[in-house]
Amino acid sequence: MKVAVDVNGERVQKQDGSQNETLDLLSSTQSIIKMAVRKLGYSEEMYELLKEPLRILTVRIPVRMDDGSTKIFIGYRSQHNDAVGPTKGGIRFHPEVSEEEVKALSMWMSLKCGIVDLPYGGGKGGIICDPRSMSFLELERLSRGYVRAISQIVGPTKDIPAPDVYTNPQIMAWMMDEYSRIQEFDSPGFITGKPIVLGGSQGRESATAAGVTICIEEAAKRRGIPIKGSRIIIQGFGNAGSYLAKFMKDAGAKVIGISDAYGALYDPAGLDIDYLLDRRDSFGTVTNLFTNVITNQELLEKECEILVPAAISNQITGENANKIKADIIVEAANGPTTLEATHILTNRNVLLVPDVLASSGGVTVSYFEWVQNNQGFYWSEEEVAQRLRTKIVDSFERVFSTAQQYQVDMRLAAYMVGIRKMAEASHFRGWV
Ligand code: NAD
Repeated sequence: MKVAVDVNGERVQKQDGSQNETLDLLSSTQSIIKMAVRKLGYSEEMYELLKEPLRILTVRIPVRMDDGSTKIFIGYRSQHNDAVGPTKGGIRFHPEVSEEEVKALSMWMSLKCGIVDLPYGGGKGGIICDPRSMSFLELERLSRGYVRAISQIVGPTKDIPAPDVYTNPQIMAWMMDEYSRIQEFDSPGFITGKPIVLGGSQGRESATAAGVTICIEEAAKRRGIPIKGSRIIIQGFGNAGSYLAKFMKDAGAKVIGISDAYGALYDPAGLDIDYLLDRRDSFGTVTNLFTNVITNQELLEKECEILVPAAISNQITGENANKIKADIIVEAANGPTTLEATHILTNRNVLLVPDVLASSGGVTVSYFEWVQNNQGFYWSEEEVAQRLRTKIVDSFERVFSTAQQYQVDMRLAAYMVGIRKMAEASHFRGWV
């Protein structure tokens, strides 16, 4: 089954709610990998190696449901490339998970790990299910059944899962417990995104927003824009957007616009972020409490120094790219800007920090969690924050200087950085 997704991994939802069948994640990821491989001067064989995962396991998981019936769920685990080290990537629970999507997302994780210079290749897992219609106990049985089914190919030195769409610390805890039972020893390093008491890391929940904040600071430095007093607009007020609004306010920026699925709030004098954080619900909704709302599209086109799409894909397109007035765009969401819009914005000299770099704070702190589990010694929130800063600042510089050296946009530069490490490791191992 072909899944309709945009170039960066999000399903493409059309106005009428149907899926756009013209795009698929696997082929678009392959085409960017090909572009990056060629730009770096690697051989066709290297592309052949990297264009598909090294292995993908499909499993059928029987789960006893609460009504006594047994339901068979289908799950996948894909491992793209383990030349650099064990593979790493989330597990999603979603009705539209497919083999093709999981494969492509594992390739995407390889790129991310390469960009942030983590000692990992990319992995991804998924189960076709609708967790919203399942009970707590059914979810626990499914989570444990999945681990039993994939246990031979995963582990702290093979492939380390993490949370993704509709999976959370509780599900990670069940999975870690099941894996530890199979191995007959405690294995916290088998999975990341765990509750703190089971070896989770400080700072994991806000890690994505923290990484985006550091990217904003780095981009602003390159453009000579002081953060203090700069105007920032954030689309989306969920996990990523709300923490980001707080971090930017604390840094002295003026958050003049935020939005959610129902509309946008805009005030050129600056919004009361503490009040909005206090009133938002757990789904990241707050604009429904106000009458003076504007649309999401209107918000994107308002004057500001920094614009952060932190909601859904395909928000900045060929249609509106010329109307965007921001100097800097930092993509917290997956795939908010189309390739056409990327070209338009780059030609207009807007500094666009791509999602694969900007949203890598989460996987970076997941790596820190694994390191802490392996050494059995845990870091304070400040230590995690400091190490994250070092990682993201270095990664930003690598991507920025690659873009300048090869005269390409930041997106292609990020893919090149991501590919380079994997390709070199594969070469030294004598694979290609
Ligand atoms: P979330 O579900 O917590 O929040 C999503 C926000 O977007 C909510 O405020 C929601 O109202 C808003 N939204 C939904 N549909 C919208 C629409 N049509 N227009 C405007 N706003 C809309 O999600 P999140 O975890 O904050 O993730 C946001 C984006 O960041 C996603 O693209 C996600 O893939 C990406 N991302 C998140 C993380 C993370 O750790 N949270 C990591 C990497 C990437």
